[in-house]
Amino acid sequence: MLAVMSQAATSPLPDARGHFGAFGGMFVPETLMSPLRELADAYDSARRDPAFQLELDALLHDYVGRPTPLYFAERWTRKLGGAKIYLKREDLLHTGAHKINNAIGQILLAKRLGKRRIIAETGAGQHGVATATVCARFGMECVVYMGAVDMERQALNVARMRLMGAEVRAVTAGQATLKEAVNEAMRDWVASVGHTHYIIGSALGSHPFPMIVRDFHRVIGIEARRQILEKEGRLPDLLVACVGGGSNAIGLFHPFLDDAGVRMVGVEAGGDGIIRERHAARFQGGKLGVLQGTMTWLLADADGQIELTHSISAGLDYAAVGPEHAYLRELGRVEYTYATDDETLAAFKELAHCEGIIPALESAHAMAYVSNIAPSLPKDCILIANLSGRGDKDVEQASKHLL
Ligand SMILES: *Cc1c(COP(=O)(O)O)cnc(C)c1O
Repeated sequence: MLAVMSQAATSPLPDARGHFGAFGGMFVPETLMSPLRELADAYDSARRDPAFQLELDALLHDYVGRPTPLYFAERWTRKLGGAKIYLKREDLLHTGAHKINNAIGQILLAKRLGKRRIIAETGAGQHGVATATVCARFGMECVVYMGAVDMERQALNVARMRLMGAEVRAVTAGQATLKEAVNEAMRDWVASVGHTHYIIGSALGSHPFPMIVRDFHRVIGIEARRQILEKEGRLPDLLVACVGGGSNAIGLFHPFLDDAGVRMVGVEAGGDGIIRERHAARFQGGKLGVLQGTMTWLLADADGQIELTHSISAGLDYAAVGPEHAYLRELGRVEYTYATDDETLAAFKELAHCEGIIPALESAHAMAYVSNIAPSLPKDCILIANLSGRGDKDVEQASKHLL
């Protein structure tokens, strides 16, 4: 069995009020304070409960498809001519991305809390699909809020959610994309929290969500650590992951944070380059502020109004980053960089050609960094990059640019 949760208790952060240093916290309407405290208590008891862990481990193994392989990308390594590249294959999970690790954990928590209805927000639809999937598996009512613009762009995922019995509610306010969908989900939750659990899709939002989402994704790093020790007999030199809200990255990084020799790099969406409103790289030109429940690094104008963002990948196209990443950056423990749309498309194509693996455009941001850095690293350097999802959903969009 995977012993996922038992190792979650090793981290002292966040503190009891949800802070990672100056970041995080609980910036929510008064009516949500007591339900959020209840959720934190329920989570605390769940992670100590062997029966909860056993049920989660069994589902991760038999339903979600864990452990995922740690794959040595031999041809890509040879082509780049430097560091030895391993890929953590989250793309092979049920529904095609890491997001189901969190969705399955949270639905078990919802069951424990006696909730019968689930709500979620989604941008590209990947988190909506993961949530609709676990709701079908547990026979729970499911409502997914999605921007009307995103619904049009991601019609296939809307159809998948509906097929599994979820109700997809179109949000037409503002830009009609992810940020507005989160607002709508929050509004629903304030009115329905007695019987409804909100499955948030990344390591974002008010405490205790960034901690809960991180812990359910730690299985990525826990497995990778064991697998690299088996294959190489030592820890890796470098970890790389893309950063939207930051859930796949924190899941890979967290179990290695105490290993001083392991360098870590998070890759944000550089869009058309670091030009105002043409990217989503919060650590490049962003500032400290509060958005949707948490204090973190975000893209806002001089008046504090949230700016428009752009990325070729919908999953990274959000104005705020998870608060723990803001903290890890401040500590200097994790470095953050960005890849532009063009660099990402080149890596998307390179991995497909070289290894027969089509990455999600989100994951391709991490691959773009690998492609840039690996040639300059020595041949005995070991690098693990998180392949957070598969790219089937992106083939049509990428083809428009590549052909
Ligand atoms: C949603 C998504 C991301 C971005 O979310 P994080 O919380 O930053 O991990 C990355 N990769 C894939 C495949 C996704 O679906």
